[in-house]
Amino acid sequence: TYVVTDNCIACKYTDCVEVCPVDCFYEGENTLVIHPDECIDCGVCEPECPADAIRPDTEPGMEDWVEFNRTYASQW
Ligand code: SF4
Repeated sequence: TYVVTDNCIACKYTDCVEVCPVDCFYEGENTLVIHPDECIDCGVCEPECPADAIRPDTEPGMEDWVEFNRTYASQW
């Protein structure tokens, strides 16, 4: 799965939402979030993010961000 990280805070762009083929972006408290169970790992959103906030969960230290994304995405 891909995850939204802290560079997204207060970002006003939604380029990522527009390209996601499965519509798995949701509104968090002050970021967008990706639902980790719905993301199909296509990677299309990552280069579209102008804030470089979207990372693959295979990068080191992403565990907390996966939980962050899951927590807020699950509220919808
Ligand atoms: Fe959507 Fe693909 Fe990005 Fe996952 S990796 S959030 S499916 S655009």
